[in-house]
Amino acid sequence: MTIFARRPRSAVMTALAFVGAGFLWTAPSAHAAPPQNTVRDAALSKYVYPLAPPMARVPDVSVDVTDNPDAEAWAREAQKLVAEWFPQVWRLLATEQTTPPRAIKLIFRKTISAPAYAANNAITVNGEWIRSHPDDLGMMVHELTHLVQAYPPGPNKPGWLVEGIADYIRWWRYEPEAPRTRIDPLKASYRDSYRITAAFLAWLTARYDKRIVPKLDKALRDGKYADGLFQEVTDKNLDTLWSEFAPKPAATEKKE
Ligand SMILES: [Zn+2]
Repeated sequence: MTIFARRPRSAVMTALAFVGAGFLWTAPSAHAAPPQNTVRDAALSKYVYPLAPPMARVPDVSVDVTDNPDAEAWAREAQKLVAEWFPQVWRLLATEQTTPPRAIKLIFRKTISAPAYAANNAITVNGEWIRSHPDDLGMMVHELTHLVQAYPPGPNKPGWLVEGIADYIRWWRYEPEAPRTRIDPLKASYRDSYRITAAFLAWLTARYDKRIVPKLDKALRDGKYADGLFQEVTDKNLDTLWSEFAPKPAATEKKE
């Protein structure tokens, strides 16, 4: 089994198949010239994941294990994974107006204060973390998503959403068969970031609009994100959506 053949590819293929079917279906009617039904098209497009065009040039991915030569084997797997998945994640987000980096560097350090971090077209990885979590290659997908995001500096970039999108790509596009995150409705919030926010985004994608994550990503890229975007896409505000996603259990009746 190759990592490349997992769910995200099938999501891509499904979306392409849907577009393809639409094309075959509309082609014969070109002769009859029916009136354009843009309302119907707008209503249907929420069921199609909007893929950005492929990258013009795939970046080179290099590995630096100078500080941590023991990481060599893991680093080579990570290098393959990033080379294959960077162009996939590129298509899953709103990258139409974005220029891809020419090169991506993976730097393996003996130890750093986090499992890994992404900045300046590089992903720096903690050697201690991968020794104790050798199966955590999926974290590279979270980190490379940050390189695809590469939002410009400025306000209107809530951390919970930036991390939520990176975990949505990792857990719902790269390894969707992984056990789902349990949400505690009494404690959790969409602002919890990482997997909690990712689970909420995945639910919104399935329940309301497959375009929502790329739309949020686009707003973040343009420095125009506001919570009202959730309302624009779904006709419901964030708090209402969250309470639909994670309803609080009804309070138990008080016994007199
Ligand atoms: Zn992150």
